[in-house]
Amino acid sequence: MREGRIIKGIGGFYYIDSEEGLFECKARGIFRKNNLTPMVGDYVFFTVLDVEEKKGVIEEIKPRRNMLFRPPVANVDQVIVVFAVTQPDPNLSLLDRFLILAEKEDLDIVICFNKIDLLPLEEYQWMLDIYSRVGYKVITTSKDHPISLDDLRQALAERVSVVAGPSGVGKSSLLNHVQSNIHLQTGEVSNKTERGKHTTRHVELIPLDQKGWVVDTPGFSNLRMDFTGELQLTHYFPEFLKPSEECKFTSCLHEKEPQCGIKEAVSIGEISESRYESYLQLLEEIRGNRKY
Ligand code: GDP
Repeated sequence: MREGRIIKGIGGFYYIDSEEGLFECKARGIFRKNNLTPMVGDYVFFTVLDVEEKKGVIEEIKPRRNMLFRPPVANVDQVIVVFAVTQPDPNLSLLDRFLILAEKEDLDIVICFNKIDLLPLEEYQWMLDIYSRVGYKVITTSKDHPISLDDLRQALAERVSVVAGPSGVGKSSLLNHVQSNIHLQTGEVSNKTERGKHTTRHVELIPLDQKGWVVDTPGFSNLRMDFTGELQLTHYFPEFLKPSEECKFTSCLHEKEPQCGIKEAVSIGEISESRYESYLQLLEEIRGNRKY
């Protein structure tokens, strides 16, 4: 048996990247019986049925490190969360929401602020500060500044990345610029939505010169918080971890409780107000989820 990784799946055929090249494989019926479907990103063992034609059959799927639903991809290493510094103006509570969903999937996170050609650094430095202080890797890019794209290339190297972020921030443009074999459609949001309605998209891992892979479809299009534990939320704000040890109550939700380490950290500027605001908003939302 050989080993490889599924990089594309269309109509019951899976395309497996292996040391001996690309193989077109079907999945053994046993998978269907066990309700297990191979996914793009899966590492698999397969048997070659035809060496010339490079055809085979998938025998076994290796355990998955993680599994995203939108897009459906397994074993993703990291998410590059892209926001524009302007046009559209960044909505930090939305950015925090992307981060929580990525934290929840245990993905490494790179925050990429794009369109820096449109604004002087003094006007967006504060955002970079908020997120680098949390400990996130933050890069700044413009499709028109080739040097800035090197930082993005470096971040993508040797990893499997999914790119996430709202429409219009430049996700497709950035990918097109970092890699010559990528030709995603860019431009007005409305055009792209139109196109999306009429074509079936297949998720695909695109190989990069830097030996990494990028998922061709943006991630986390559904931004609903699908968990219900309020205490769980604290774990997805990395900078809350240490100050929360100072809370008087172990079940402290950092709202109105006395002697709360988080509120103290906000008051002395160790935790940013905007992150704390996002936390409170999401807490409300999680409570709402439980009511329905
Ligand atoms: P997506 O929806 O996130 O994939 O965004 P697109 O890549 O389609 O870009 C949306 C619009 O922003 C397009 O008109 C792009 O030309 C423009 N754009 C993308 N990146 C940049 C950038 O770095 N600077 C400027 N000024 N415009 C950009």
